[in-house]
Amino acid sequence: MLPHDLPVPFALLIVSLAVTVIVALRYLLASGLFALATARVRPGLYAGRGEQIAREVRWSLLSAAIYGAPAGIVLWGWNHFGWTMISADFAALPWWYHPLSVLIYLLVQDTCFYWSHRWMHQPRLFRIAHAVHHQSRPPTAWTAMSFHPIEALTGAIVVPVLVFFVPINVAMLGLVLTVATVMGVTNHMGWEMFPRWLVHSALGKWLITASHHERHHEEYLCNFGLYFRIWDRLCGTDKGLSRRIVAEAGHARGAATS
Ligand SMILES: [Zn+2]
Ligand SMILES: [Zn+2]
Repeated sequence: MLPHDLPVPFALLIVSLAVTVIVALRYLLASGLFALATARVRPGLYAGRGEQIAREVRWSLLSAAIYGAPAGIVLWGWNHFGWTMISADFAALPWWYHPLSVLIYLLVQDTCFYWSHRWMHQPRLFRIAHAVHHQSRPPTAWTAMSFHPIEALTGAIVVPVLVFFVPINVAMLGLVLTVATVMGVTNHMGWEMFPRWLVHSALGKWLITASHHERHHEEYLCNFGLYFRIWDRLCGTDKGLSRRIVAEAGHARGAATS
């Protein structure tokens, strides 16, 4: 780690830059992998979209810095002063609490996202903060972090604040960040990777996958959630799934079995 006599602003800058690089690499790797999968599963889906993808990558790399700074500062404080309620020892928390902590983090992230997202759909704020994300019509695997800096900030502070209040094991935190990364990419990639029996099941009615978020990009004023459909269903903003994705999933399955 960094030497202890390093001036604090300098140390914070180095840690924030290091986390920014990690977030950027995580984005490039995850989006790159699912873009490759898209080329195999839905050849031609991103054809002629080079300009859009280049713009999405530029905004996403800027977002990586906005995610990296607060995470870097909290990481530095954890390392130097024991800030946060993150524990490295698995036995420090009861076994049953580990899955519960993951669920709590996802539910809080989802709640913050739903309400900040609805707020950003007010016309004035939309133009300033959220139009960047909706420039992707339709989105691609590279849209995952394509946000204006104001929108990126609303997402970037949730986990760094939560770790001060809700205890979590570092491995469970890794799991939360993995779910956030994978769902962020796959919900935008333009096709459904989850099986039909799950998406159309009783459980699927409460979960957000590509079929659900694509409809937000098609119609704007519905389907605001991140992981769960709880708030959308409670507030009457759930319009169901994208007809295009559901129809194409059916065709692909039909073609594969015929
Ligand atoms: Zn989106
Ligand atoms: Zn939106």
